[in-house]
Amino acid sequence: MSAAQVLTGSIAANTVHTWLRAAHQGDAPQTIDLNIVRQMLPGTPFGKDVREIKAPMAHGISSCEGMLVRNPKDAAEWAIFYNGNSSPERQRFTIAHELGHFILHRSQRPNFNCDKESVYSGADTIRDIERQADDFASNLLMPGDLLRQGIANRRIDLHVLGAIAQRFQVSFEALCIRFIKFTPQRAILMHWDNGFLKYEWRSSSAVKTRARIRRRSDPVEPPPGTLAADAGVEQERDGIEMSAAIWCAEEAPHMKLREFKHSYRERVLSLLILESAEPRPGDTTWHDEPVEDSYDHFIANGQHPVR
Ligand SMILES: [Zn+2]
Repeated sequence: MSAAQVLTGSIAANTVHTWLRAAHQGDAPQTIDLNIVRQMLPGTPFGKDVREIKAPMAHGISSCEGMLVRNPKDAAEWAIFYNGNSSPERQRFTIAHELGHFILHRSQRPNFNCDKESVYSGADTIRDIERQADDFASNLLMPGDLLRQGIANRRIDLHVLGAIAQRFQVSFEALCIRFIKFTPQRAILMHWDNGFLKYEWRSSSAVKTRARIRRRSDPVEPPPGTLAADAGVEQERDGIEMSAAIWCAEEAPHMKLREFKHSYRERVLSLLILESAEPRPGDTTWHDEPVEDSYDHFIANGQHPVR
């Protein structure tokens, strides 16, 4: 890699994939083995002057998801800590995130203390490095080429997405966020917390065709007639077809969508897959919309502010 090329989270993750695939003669398993990555790194250009990254250790500090720490007595040794009370998928994401700090940021600081909120509440430089580490983790655990293969040429439903999440050993929500980035379909993903919209992600073709949900209240609640508004439905993995206008006021009357629903704890995930549409003729104003750069940021449980 040339010195002029800035090492980003996704470039670093792709480089690690290349090494892993070479080690497996091109046929690396879909579930990334983070122990192999951790043990491999000191012997690579990403681990210069480091002898060892110790095996990750659980801690019980609830405010802290993970830490990366240099041994104060031995600069060639680093250690990773993770929240032992988090779900196994969350722990895995955290360890990948700390490996991201190791590759991208360890020359800047001797320790990293990562909580759920610092991506949004921290100072600019903290936010930046947290996002880069998340970007690395998403790209490492959910390789874009494998995800594209997994969703290509098939009808998408929550069974399909759940199976891919299991294969990658990531949370269902993390996988859905990544799906939105890679799908060529018009798709909108919403995260409801206690009945109100907390985060929203749109696929690039949804942005280009200006598909967006109607907002009648602030904070936003699901429109009547939708699965999201129906407390009697907890899960809808096969999807229900309905008029797209129920969700998206600007959609043509003949346009249809499929709505899916996944409930867990006090939260609900809604996925809408809309029929395809051409970008609006003569309408280039979508260029001015802020295109999300945060699809890759699976932050804690997917924290992402609604814009
Ligand atoms: Zn971090």
